[in-house]
Amino acid sequence: SAMVKAEGVHKSYGNVEVLKGIDLEVATGEVFCLIGPSGSGKSTFLRCINHLEKVNAGRLYVDGELVGYRQKGDKLYELKDNEVALKRRDIGMVFQRFNLFPHMTALQNICEAPIQVKRVPTRQARERAAQLLERVGLADKADSYPSQLSGGQQQRVAIARALAMDPKLMLFDEPTSALDPELVGDVLDVMRDLAESGMTMVVVTHEMGFAREVGDSLVFMDGGVVVESGDPREVLTNP
Ligand code: ADP
Ligand code: ADP
Repeated sequence: SAMVKAEGVHKSYGNVEVLKGIDLEVATGEVFCLIGPSGSGKSTFLRCINHLEKVNAGRLYVDGELVGYRQKGDKLYELKDNEVALKRRDIGMVFQRFNLFPHMTALQNICEAPIQVKRVPTRQARERAAQLLERVGLADKADSYPSQLSGGQQQRVAIARALAMDPKLMLFDEPTSALDPELVGDVLDVMRDLAESGMTMVVVTHEMGFAREVGDSLVFMDGGVVVESGDPREVLTNP
């Protein structure tokens, strides 16, 4: 079944149409890679999936539910802010910049949302955070502050922080683009492990090696439309 389904999704900023009718489907459990030149609308599309932008036309579904609306009979009602917040809990997002809270340790960063948003007991949240740190290879960095970590380590904490909310879908927006080249591999390794665990992932990336090895599907976007799609190993043979 589809975790994400887009049917003729349009998005404009003022007069500028950024998404010009996107149709695609992300199957549950797959790694779906989104590539294309800068400005083609990839990030905007991710933001639509995560309720950070509203689509202007077309339909976008996450896990079978229309994003941003509640359906009653044949009428659609826009979700209220608190309803949107509930939906967003199920979606993890990792950005190009790590966006960790600078005044909190790695462990505290990971615990924050489960404790504050999900009311998970502190001790339980801390145990889980320690497990997640181990999973991303940073068991020894629990008490480090973001400024004491490399970019790659910060990004792995950011992934652990997203996983702490038990998302059903993970969105990655160029997660390695801001990293020094020698740190990219560690982050991609964590993403590969996550893929092997069965997580549904939509990944905007310039890492063609990752797309080819780990991706199940690939879409090439340009100018707000899908130009090519298919098996990454086939799509990426003729650049
Ligand atoms: P970059 O951002 O690396 O300068 P682009 O944004 O133009 O390059 O393209 C991103 C990646 O998509 C490139 O690595 C390129 O090899 C690949 N690519 C470009 N055109 C196509 C195409 N028609 N089909 C598949 N892949 C493509
Ligand atoms: P990509 O992720 O493929 O680089 P984006 O989705 O970031 O592309 O951007 C697509 C286009 O939308 C760009 O031309 C960008 O300038 C424009 N855009 C993105 N966000 C906004 C915004 N908040 N207001 C106006 N234009 C925007």
